Amino acid sequence: MQYIFSSIIPVILKVCLNLACLIMFFSCAKKEPETLRILTAGIRHESNTFNSVLTTTKDFVIKRGSAVLEDEEWAEYLKNEGIEVIPTMHASAGPFGVVAKDTYEFFRSEIISEVRQAGKIDGIYLDMHGALHVEGYPDAQLDLIQSIRKESGDAVLISASFDLHGNMSSNFVESLNLLTAFRTAPHVDDSQTRLRAVSLLVNALRNQWKPVVAHVHIPILIPGEKGITAVEPLKSIYEQLPNIAMQEGLLDASIFVGMPWTDVPRAGMSIQVVAQDKSYLTTAQDELRRLATQLWDERQRLQFDVLTDNIRGAVETALKSEKSTVFITDSGDNTTAGAAGDNTLVLEYLISHGVQNALVAGIVDPEAVRYCDEVGVGNEVSITIGGKIDTVFGQSLEIRGIVKMVSSYDSLTRRKPAVVRLDGIDLVLLTDRRSFLSPQDFKEVGLDPLNYKIVVVKLGYLFQGLRDISPMTIMALTPGFANQVIESLPYQNVNRPIYPLDEDMQWDFATIY
Ligand SMILES: [Zn+2]
Repeated sequence: MQYIFSSIIPVILKVCLNLACLIMFFSCAKKEPETLRILTAGIRHESNTFNSVLTTTKDFVIKRGSAVLEDEEWAEYLKNEGIEVIPTMHASAGPFGVVAKDTYEFFRSEIISEVRQAGKIDGIYLDMHGALHVEGYPDAQLDLIQSIRKESGDAVLISASFDLHGNMSSNFVESLNLLTAFRTAPHVDDSQTRLRAVSLLVNALRNQWKPVVAHVHIPILIPGEKGITAVEPLKSIYEQLPNIAMQEGLLDASIFVGMPWTDVPRAGMSIQVVAQDKSYLTTAQDELRRLATQLWDERQRLQFDVLTDNIRGAVETALKSEKSTVFITDSGDNTTAGAAGDNTLVLEYLISHGVQNALVAGIVDPEAVRYCDEVGVGNEVSITIGGKIDTVFGQSLEIRGIVKMVSSYDSLTRRKPAVVRLDGIDLVLLTDRRSFLSPQDFKEVGLDPLNYKIVVVKLGYLFQGLRDISPMTIMALTPGFANQVIESLPYQNVNRPIYPLDEDMQWDFATIY
């Protein structure tokens, strides 16, 4: 009997083992890889604290649901990868004053509620600018990420894309798992950067990495006009970023030039290197040290790459120039840096000095456009324009001219420009706060900038489309919310010392790490 048991037991055990293996085999064979679920949200704004007007909900373009994914390379990529996307609110507005508290809280509450209702998610992609500042919040971006983390938990990987003019705080950066920023200024890689942020997230999820971001703030505060990535010294430094991302254990590297018109402690340059996991943090920090040292050593070479002058000097140089067209940028009133776009100082100078063959594109004044529309094309108008948004540096100007064109309202772009011909000067009036960035903007109002001797635009540096066609550019150092002479600004909150406000300061990476 004992013999029978002792001989049967191994057989039974063997059969059981085989059965277990078979069950495991079939259950494994049947199991499909789980579909990854990625939620996406975003608040994009570059907030200029020197601007006295708040940015409110009406200034934002808000996308929800499938509209978020339309014509986006990153969304197409996720679709092709078979990833389930949960699109929530994406809000973006042009650079302007600090964001109103209730506007931000409205956005946050909707995003958080969507995260709560999303069920199990593996990752989150945030589409940000990086220079968001909200009234009443010391660091709204940190608040947003902490609020999201409260709902999603720490296990969810969060990746974010940024404009390189963002001001990054270390607490905010450490709350993210992955981040990447534009590598060009003027920007031509927006779409590429968003795609990179999303593909980094997907790779990390598929490889089950736990990426961490190494970050260093560099005490350098410069306007973007001194931080052009195609010009030295930044050219050689930015060119290193893709190679750093190729190193074993490293995933990405970013350099933020920063936004100097946001007077907050975190304002200034910063560098981030993303490591695959904590074990590669030292490698990431080595790269931080290398890049930070280069930037610090080259700080005095971070200069404007065009002629600069006051209004009179800029106009006189342009008139004397042999170039057929000279672009003058009204840099203090640069709407792409959060200024108003309705300062009339340069126009006033041109009129009072009888300058001929000039184009001013443009001045923001919806009331004036409405009035031109009422008066009608071909008729004379006598109106007071500008100085209504920027009431600190700007003042209104009375003009008289002939209405040359009034376009019909475009609900998609919210645009309805008008052109008035003054004595020798064509003036574009705008309903929406913006700058002329490309030849296409001039085409929309039926004008060729190259037909004029002087073209005035509300920019600091010319954006790429205009850089490509401009025979000569002079930056007029004008007053306004985006004053380029940042040394003259009444900073109260920026961390000090910071170069060049504290020109002789010393700084060493070794004291940080
Ligand atoms: Zn930017």
